[in-house]
Amino acid sequence: MITIKSRSDLEKLREAGRVAAQALELAGKSIHPGMTTYQLDKILHDFIVHSGATFLGYGGFPASACISINEEIIHGIPSRHRVIKAGDIVSVDVGATLNGFVGDNAATFPVGDVSQEALDLLAVTKASLFEAIAAAQVGARLGDVCHAVEAYCSERGYGIVREYCGHGIGREMHEDPEVPNYGKPGHGVRLMPGMTFCIEPMINQKGDAVRVLKDGWTVVTANGSLSAHFEHEIAVTKDGPVILTRP
Ligand code: MG
Repeated sequence: MITIKSRSDLEKLREAGRVAAQALELAGKSIHPGMTTYQLDKILHDFIVHSGATFLGYGGFPASACISINEEIIHGIPSRHRVIKAGDIVSVDVGATLNGFVGDNAATFPVGDVSQEALDLLAVTKASLFEAIAAAQVGARLGDVCHAVEAYCSERGYGIVREYCGHGIGREMHEDPEVPNYGKPGHGVRLMPGMTFCIEPMINQKGDAVRVLKDGWTVVTANGSLSAHFEHEIAVTKDGPVILTRP
């Protein structure tokens, strides 16, 4: 069931979204070659707690942020043994629960000098997110939003992760509806004011096949190609889509 949020719910979601977005912004400023993913997670965890929010261990995940490097798509587990290097692209997915409402966002950051191919992947993935947000208008269909990601990325030859997707969000991190990164225009739920969901393209340089590592969490591209992930939490309003994850 899709929950419709009241004005006061939306205000609380915006506050949770602000903490999540500030944590993501802090990740971008903090990442540097030589640091471990554990150190980065610790910085974000401390910030979230200091903001009066929580996020540790969501769904049994053993850290506050998912940190996924290069061919890792999502759910990378922060580790004292994993060192971030110049030339890496690092996806950080971090959220915040504040006053009973959840903020959730993600971005992929280039570290030092990265290849042009990597920069192109980041640019296309991020642009596809904004294409999808623009499609989230009252009266449009969910399929229009999902299709926007698929059309933008597949036209450019990139692979679209199909096993994982965006989601409704509110008091729970994962609510209805599912928001895949592919879909049919004109199909699916009709969008109404007060709907809130996360759109999160996970886009591979080549191919769409994925596999999960033995740790049971980390999802990687099956062929080892790079992958990028950008996510915003948005609200559908009569004045157009509003991004709730703004710092
Ligand atoms: Mg999400």
